[in-house]
Amino acid sequence: MSHYLGIDLGGTTIKFAIVREDGEIVANDRIMTDGEDGHGNVIARMIETAKNLTVANADTPVEAIGVAVPGVIDMVNGISIFLPNLPGDWPNVPVTEPISRALNKPAWLINDVRAFTLAELTFGAARGVNTGIFYAVGTGIGGGVVAHGKLNLGVGGAGGELGHMIVNANGPECGCGNRGCIEAYAAGPAIIGEANRRIVMGETTTLRDKIGDDLNKMVPELVEEAAEEGDKEAQEVLEYAGFHFGLGIAGAISALAPEVVVLGGGVVKPHGFFWKQIEQSARSHCHVTEIDRVQFRPSHFSYEAGVVGAALWSREVESGRVVPAR
Ligand SMILES: [Zn+2]
Repeated sequence: MSHYLGIDLGGTTIKFAIVREDGEIVANDRIMTDGEDGHGNVIARMIETAKNLTVANADTPVEAIGVAVPGVIDMVNGISIFLPNLPGDWPNVPVTEPISRALNKPAWLINDVRAFTLAELTFGAARGVNTGIFYAVGTGIGGGVVAHGKLNLGVGGAGGELGHMIVNANGPECGCGNRGCIEAYAAGPAIIGEANRRIVMGETTTLRDKIGDDLNKMVPELVEEAAEEGDKEAQEVLEYAGFHFGLGIAGAISALAPEVVVLGGGVVKPHGFFWKQIEQSARSHCHVTEIDRVQFRPSHFSYEAGVVGAALWSREVESGRVVPAR
């Protein structure tokens, strides 16, 4: 069986995996991104780690390389255009060309959540699905769309930015420049901000003890934990975020009538308190879709979805099954 190298560039870490064509990870590695070094140094370290991994696994040589990055890209030329979570934003940086040259293999670029979607469609939670919508909830809310059994790319591969569906024109500011996107209500920073606001306001909550009175220690996982233990304030934080997130999902469900909604990323625990708020809001705001036929499923690959999807993207392009979107 053939093998492909996936590289997933994140704001904090860069993940690497040699992926067999049936989706199995045969070797992997991970380094810190240290984005403040500048894109030249980050790419140099990507190349070094990728080389070491392929040399150490010479018995499973890779056919091609897929690189997933968090932001706006030129898929055809392998150039990053705007990566808002990385210092310097990486405008017009050739990403795949130096990697391809150093490893002497073709390399292809894809948005990280399109990669997540491709992995879940091909070997994960949405295998065999005809129509699906995908959300990866972390620092932001990334999205993806599958239609007619295929990853929907759209103009420039930017199709499926479901985290930027606006549910309130007067809502909180979003990193994209709009107001009231679901990302501004329900991604990690929004939950942390609202939980900390309630502590500062002097509300009674177990969250205060969980963070030892240090607001910098607040993470969405603690809010989920407190909510499941019955903490009213934590529950309200997630009810509010989940309500707005669900409105956005309901809009996407009405547009596409998907068989599945896949939720992944560290902020949404499968079938936990936050999950239930999201699903309940989405279901109760759909009146033109047979909502009982729509399933909510957790991501199968979780943190590895991006790196597996990147590898699969290079397989798809090299096989001629897809072409990068202009
Ligand atoms: Zn937005």
